[in-house]
Amino acid sequence: MEQIEMLLDFQEADMEADALETEIRRSPNRIALKKNRDFLKEQQDAVKQMEEQIVTMLDRVDVIKEAIRRQEEQLKALQKRMSDSPPESLEDTKAMQADAQSLLHDIHGYETEMKRIQKDAAENERRHKEIIIRFAKVKTEYDQQKVDYEAEYTEQMKKLEEKRRIAQEKTKGIEAKLMERYQIIKKHCTPPVVKLINGQCGGCYMSLPSVTLRNLKAGSDIIECESCGRMIVPV
Ligand SMILES: [Zn+2]
Repeated sequence: MEQIEMLLDFQEADMEADALETEIRRSPNRIALKKNRDFLKEQQDAVKQMEEQIVTMLDRVDVIKEAIRRQEEQLKALQKRMSDSPPESLEDTKAMQADAQSLLHDIHGYETEMKRIQKDAAENERRHKEIIIRFAKVKTEYDQQKVDYEAEYTEQMKKLEEKRRIAQEKTKGIEAKLMERYQIIKKHCTPPVVKLINGQCGGCYMSLPSVTLRNLKAGSDIIECESCGRMIVPV
């Protein structure tokens, strides 16, 4: 068999193996599996974030509780002072009342914040529960999908190995230099070897200069397309 024919024969087997590899990568089961895996990962991240938020909330609750306790103490002390030694002037009475008002105002502010945190915490807990339930459901589905896909994958990989083996077999007898050119071109153009079609490159359909065409028809050598770099064979 001539080099060109052998190369084309190998290319056909090589392209078949590549096509199967693409098919494996694009398998709907593989994509569904990946989608669920990404979803589970997202949920895990969300749970982690929620747990961090809860820690922050609990810390803040401690701070607020302590602040309320201190304000109440001050208020009690103020009230005690007012009953033990009632203010003598109207001004003193007003000043004490203003202090008490200010303390009550602060306490009210803290209580409002506390209520808001409790509401947020309840919402957090509700979402957390929701996620846990959904997570468990998807996880069960995912585990089964994984088992199923692994069987499919093993099967497909066996087929791919066989196709690769056949292609490898067909490289026997092809000059090493030619194979090397094939592999280099394949990195940016596929298929790397094309036929001449109506004076054009069978890969990119660029018309070839007449000098090149003459050389090709004279069968001097395999030429490379100046536009796309593919090997053009005169078949
Ligand atoms: Zn071309």
